[in-house]
Amino acid sequence: MPLIAGNWKMHKTGSQAVEAAHELKSRIASAQNVEVMVAPTFTALFQVAQILKGSNIAVGGQNLHWEHQGAYTGEISAEMLTDAGCSHVIIGHSERRQYFGETDETVNKKIKAALNSHLIPFFCIGESESERESGNTFSVLDKQVRDGLNGFTFDGQANLVVAYEPVWAIGTGKTASREQAQEAHQFIRGLLENLFGKAFASAVRILYGGSVKPDNVKALMEMPDVDGALVGGASLDPETFSKLVFFDN
Ligand code: PEP
Repeated sequence: MPLIAGNWKMHKTGSQAVEAAHELKSRIASAQNVEVMVAPTFTALFQVAQILKGSNIAVGGQNLHWEHQGAYTGEISAEMLTDAGCSHVIIGHSERRQYFGETDETVNKKIKAALNSHLIPFFCIGESESERESGNTFSVLDKQVRDGLNGFTFDGQANLVVAYEPVWAIGTGKTASREQAQEAHQFIRGLLENLFGKAFASAVRILYGGSVKPDNVKALMEMPDVDGALVGGASLDPETFSKLVFFDN
């Protein structure tokens, strides 16, 4: 089933998030054969999760720390996310890699912590503009996947989502062409098959992220290895986001 996920990043106060959650809940209530997730900021998680409880919209965190608890000022554990009502968590977003020192190694520890707490990780990977221009897209993706998932075993159950988000397309209005997205997704799926087997590779969902908008979502979703979208800017307005959820209508 396709998965459309919204990353609200550092947007919306509690009351703004509550308002958006109510509006989304009613706009998306009739959506069928599509899974939906939104990731509000930490301070709004609990309230949003209360509103969306029992609806067809899941709630996720935007980050976590790999330890259960302790002296880690400013951090939030997997247990705290589940307690707040989350079923998913975004890990390794390029903004965290770029501005907050996230590495493939910390991403690996965070994915482990999420899985141990039965949270579904959105494992974000993607090349920068210079890496693409120098012809290194596949080697960058290869390293991110191998190191991020190092030491894991997966069976056919796809309790992980991969988000391919080329850094040059995030928040820039430059979307990867659907051929570029397909080529990267196919590469990632092939690598996952080599590492974890065919059952996992065909069950796992690989989302595209990077300036997804109502006018380009359908074309991207038509590609065989694009299983959904991780959306930043266009997820903030419930009306726009619901157009993405109903991409097929
Ligand atoms: C994102 O941050 O995950 C993202 C894809 O952002 P945008 O849709 O704004 O490019």
